[in-house]
Amino acid sequence: MKQHNETLAIRTQIERTAQKEHSNPLFLTSSFTFDSAEEMAAVFADEQDGNIYSRYSNPNVQELIDKAALLEGSETGWATASGMAAVFTTFAALLQSGDHIVSSRSVFGSTHRLFTEVFPKWGITTTYVDALDYTGYEKAITPTTKILYLESPSNPALEIIDLEKVGKICKKAGILFAVDNCFATPVLQQPLKLGAHISIHSTTKFMDGQGRTLGGLILSNREIISKIEGFARHSGPALSPFNAWIVSKSLETLHLRVERMTENALKIAKKLEKHSAVLNVRYPFLASHPHYKTAKKQMSGGGAIITFEVKGGLESGRKFLNKLRLFSLTPNLGDVKSIATHPASTTHSKLQAEERAAVGISDGLVRLSIGLEHVDDIWRDLKQALIE
Ligand SMILES: *Cc1c(COP(=O)(O)O)cnc(C)c1O
Repeated sequence: MKQHNETLAIRTQIERTAQKEHSNPLFLTSSFTFDSAEEMAAVFADEQDGNIYSRYSNPNVQELIDKAALLEGSETGWATASGMAAVFTTFAALLQSGDHIVSSRSVFGSTHRLFTEVFPKWGITTTYVDALDYTGYEKAITPTTKILYLESPSNPALEIIDLEKVGKICKKAGILFAVDNCFATPVLQQPLKLGAHISIHSTTKFMDGQGRTLGGLILSNREIISKIEGFARHSGPALSPFNAWIVSKSLETLHLRVERMTENALKIAKKLEKHSAVLNVRYPFLASHPHYKTAKKQMSGGGAIITFEVKGGLESGRKFLNKLRLFSLTPNLGDVKSIATHPASTTHSKLQAEERAAVGISDGLVRLSIGLEHVDDIWRDLKQALIE
């Protein structure tokens, strides 16, 4: 019987040195040597396999790609120095001047900046569509549209977009469909099986899971990745072998971590929903979530991220954060340590209250990333910080 992908991923080790180490060795080297001029020429000419230079390829980076591709169900992939480098590289490699992107309005802040400030400089334009407006996506596609892009679950509104539905729209239009799958991870959602061509990750979040490294992954078929490679080899967004080594090791426990975080998060979301100081709670696997049915259809769990609104707006939100003792106040997520953020006073403080409301951020909105501490301790901290 064929082994499961988790098993294959755990057992992926593409290099073993003469020491016969059990754990994967670290190849912290910028370049690789050749035994002869002929060998060097053959590797350079692509007539023989081999590493040349770590901007092109590195055993640790390849091991990470191979593991992630197994988990995500993709043919292959490419690794980058950050999640944003993965987003940038995808568009820069696949698009040219005059091309058009259709994107969900609910995308990561820096992705927004790329679409509105960077790509227009090169004649690449973007049309935004509200996350759940399926006819809007269809209508926004023009003859120059090359890629439809979205995040699901979105940040911080946790909107769940029906990937199969959007996949069909893209197929009909003959355009590429790319999904930022960072919040779900391949453990909970596999967009390539639902019609997407490209799945993008910030490995900084759940994949590292212990807040040590920045990194990104583009997972797709060989044809698309060869275009990505053609661009990335020479523009240099390469992931450091050290960071690849860390994340590769982390992927061996991704299932365990994400499953437990998800279990903890569902318990916490249910408790928050009953608390008198809480106006409302958003979590994809709560029946009260407006896209609960879609979440249940395409995800195997609700994930580690919960958002909720404390009564009393901006001031209450800030007070709540100040009273937390166990939770870390830090902009990361997907970590083994539970994290709380207050978008209205931090990441989105420059926007007017009305602008924040348009992207689903009320002044009392708090975002939690539930970690691996004991669920009773997580709840005790939240309870003491909530002002009745
Ligand atoms: C963090 C994040 C990114 C960017 O990743 P970095 O590793 O910080 O560059 C992109 N998309 C989503 C959804 C993220 O959460």
